[in-house]
Amino acid sequence: MSSIRFEGVSKFYEKNIALDGVTTNIPNGSFVTLVGHSGSGKSTLFKIILGEESPDEGIIYRDEKPLHVMASEELLTHRRRTGVVFQDFRLLNSKTVYENIAFAMEVLGFDDEHIYSDVPYVLGLVDLKKKMWSFPHQLSGGEKQRVAIARAIVNQPELLLADEPTGNLDPLNTYEVINILKQINKLGTTIILATHDREVVESIGGRVITMNSGQMVMDDAKGKYIL
Ligand code: ADP
Ligand code: MG
Repeated sequence: MSSIRFEGVSKFYEKNIALDGVTTNIPNGSFVTLVGHSGSGKSTLFKIILGEESPDEGIIYRDEKPLHVMASEELLTHRRRTGVVFQDFRLLNSKTVYENIAFAMEVLGFDDEHIYSDVPYVLGLVDLKKKMWSFPHQLSGGEKQRVAIARAIVNQPELLLADEPTGNLDPLNTYEVINILKQINKLGTTIILATHDREVVESIGGRVITMNSGQMVMDDAKGKYIL
């Protein structure tokens, strides 16, 4: 289960309005694509969902529970139930593929037994078992992003936030990454994906929310890329 709802959410930085009265509901199991020019508020939306930033106005709900009433332990659980993937992969370059994922699991408090069994399992899901002992510099961009996705889903989060995950990838690798995200969504994970890429929007083919200057200016169930 994982739904996210925004009710009149605004976020102001000194000179900038990052989010401006955002109200929307993202039901459990959705695959929502967030489109908008650079600076339109997409990354801020993710930070606010994660509780890394607090809104200046409005309420964010996870599964109908407002984030701001969550105790710190509950907020931690909310974050652990949320996977995150970034444009720049954010892998640890001195660690192997296996160690990158194992390390994330250690941080989350998993024991060795789970780590031994789950790391190869998630690497299988992103078709990278054969690169388990490679270092990030030995991987293509698409492979790096697949490792980052494996790391993001290793604790089976019900919500996955992907902030321009194909921004550094060529069309073939983009296609592979989007296919993996589609599979993850089919298994029940709610996905919110921010992108600039028209082909990505069209290949996902679902609900598209368009952002402009912090506002959601369009929300279309079978959306097209219009910027
Ligand atoms: P996007 O991800 O769509 O490119 P962002 O959410 O990063 O947009 O940024 C939205 C707006 O908020 C931009 O005008 C940006 O400059 C501003 N902004 C974001 N983070 C900060 C910050 N930490 N301090 C000041 N302004 C910020
Ligand atoms: Mg951004």
